[in-house]
Amino acid sequence: MRPAIKGLIDLHAHTTASDGTLSPCELVRLAAESGLQAVAVTDHDTMNGVKEAMEEGRKTGVEVVAGVEIGVEFKTEMHILGYFFDDRCFRLNNTLEELKRNRNERNPKIVKKLKELGFDISIEEIVNEADGNVVGRPHIAKVLLKKGYVGSIQEAFDKYLSSGRPAYFEKDKLSPAVGIQKITEAGGIPVLAHPVFLNMSMERLDELLKELAASGLKGIEAYYTDHSADDTGRFLRLAIKYNLLATGGSDFHGSLKDDIRLGCGRGNLKVPYELLKCLKSAVI
Ligand code: AMP
Ligand code: ZN
Ligand code: FE
Ligand code: FE
Repeated sequence: MRPAIKGLIDLHAHTTASDGTLSPCELVRLAAESGLQAVAVTDHDTMNGVKEAMEEGRKTGVEVVAGVEIGVEFKTEMHILGYFFDDRCFRLNNTLEELKRNRNERNPKIVKKLKELGFDISIEEIVNEADGNVVGRPHIAKVLLKKGYVGSIQEAFDKYLSSGRPAYFEKDKLSPAVGIQKITEAGGIPVLAHPVFLNMSMERLDELLKELAASGLKGIEAYYTDHSADDTGRFLRLAIKYNLLATGGSDFHGSLKDDIRLGCGRGNLKVPYELLKCLKSAVI
């Protein structure tokens, strides 16, 4: 058991409902063992893990926040997190079903390409790997790893699955404005995830946030595993400038990314409970 870190939270974590390796229940237990006061379940394109996590939250005393992470159309990868504090969130289900259909159109293309590259791999194996949950590239990477075609998940991405690599295929995505709108309509708070991955200069990020705020964005993930103290400072200043809430989380995926720990990322992440308080007070 790690030392208690009371007053700290993690607002970005994945479960087996998408490409995390802990079940929702196990995630919440780990949050409790780690002394976290709150954890948000933010799976890719699904909220199927939320109910189980909430039940475990009630047992363990950890506050569980219902969330989701949606990839939206942009020249680099842009992800929007949605946080929900009441059961209106089921209104997002139609949108999430559409996003899952888009994934189901992409996965066979990836598999076909991998076959052409000489790998013995089938869509059934990948669906089995995801065990009935939302299928993502990490599941494909795991099958490649299990079959000995690559030495690590990272190698599968670097050689085949990342943008620009031979087995990369786009999936249909919502525009940032529509993603923000759908989350808002379902009673959620839309937040720009891990802005550091957008790879933008401060000037361009400033312009982008101005636009996204005009589209209804309510927050920015200022604290994140891959943000330096400098990055966090810059994102907090942008939050103030555009009247956005600040959030933070690790992007925990269990053993899929085994260097990232819940609550503390690679060791330095600290997200204060105060941020969650502000987030809750912003719910209309
Ligand atoms: P998908 O939702 O199917 O597009 O897959 C996204 C997932 O793949 C996320 O969990 C990412 O963290 C993971 N991912 C994307 N790019 C990489 C990469 N270069 N190395 C490892 N994982 C990655
Ligand atoms: Zn993921
Ligand atoms: Fe993300
Ligand atoms: Fe994530």
